[in-house]
This record gives sequence, structure tokens and C-alpha cells, in this order.
Amino acid sequence: MIKFSLVCDSGHSFESWFANGAAYDQQAEGGFVHCPICGSARVTKAIMAPAIASHLGRGFETRAAESRVIEGEIIPPQPAGTNALPPALLDEQQHAVRAMIGAMRAKILTDTIDVGKDFPEEARKMHEGESPERPIRGEATVEEAHALIEDGIKIMAVPAAPDELN
Ligand SMILES: [Zn+2]
Repeated sequence: MIKFSLVCDSGHSFESWFANGAAYDQQAEGGFVHCPICGSARVTKAIMAPAIASHLGRGFETRAAESRVIEGEIIPPQPAGTNALPPALLDEQQHAVRAMIGAMRAKILTDTIDVGKDFPEEARKMHEGESPERPIRGEATVEEAHALIEDGIKIMAVPAAPDELN
């Protein structure tokens, strides 16, 4: 089952469960998905974008999560093969964790478009369908980040660089 956040042509947002993405496509194309508020069958997937924010010196650095966030989960991208850390001395474990965080951070920075201080506005536009969905990162103040979260826009922290963890 997949939960999609949907929005109708009047801008009502709501959530609905589907067996899978193809089931949603079929039902939406057939006009079987209705807005529970106004009954409109013209509904589209809302973009639950951004999902990473962390304390870096200048505030939150945030990015849009990958498309699986649309399914209602926040899963930070993880490098392959990091599910289980091998048994090791504490120092080695710490080293492995730092390497993993560093790799995750590098992947985020590589895979996302930096929109800088436009992040809150861009995230909201993507959420409302005014901008195309794409992975973005940028900066937001704590207040802006909270406002995005209150509006149902999921954001996540970009992990701090390992050097900043001391
Ligand atoms: Zn509606």
C-alpha cells in the first residue's frame, strides 16, 4: 500500500491509500479519485518535497527528498551496504559512522540543486505544484522550516559534515 498526498483543482489537499502507484494512475485517470472536500475528480499528486535540514552554522540546510518521500515516508538516502556495521572497536565504529555520514552528505550535495535562500519558497511551490518536482536543497530559518512542516511539507536535515560533529 502506498499513501499519496493529493490535491484537487480547488487546492484541497488530502491523503489516500492505493495498492500501488499504478493503481493510483488507473483510478485517477478513470476519474475514480475524488476530493473528499468538494468531490472534484480532478486530483493530482501533491509534491511532498524537501526532507533534510540540519544545523549548520547559518541555520537549516535543507533538500528535497527523493521521490519515495511522496509515499509518505522520510528515508534519508543511504549509501549501499551500510545497514550493518561490522563488529569493531569503538574507534572503528565511530570511523565507519563518520564515513557513512560523510558519504550521505556528499550524495545529497551531489544529487540536489542548491536553491540557497529561495528554498522555503521553492519547496512551497513544489508542494503546490507550481514548480516541477526536483531534488533541491537550500537554506531556511528555523521559523521557515517550522512553517513548511506545519503546511505538510516534509523537510529533512542534511547531515553535518563529520568534521563538524566534534
Ligand atoms: Zn476539492
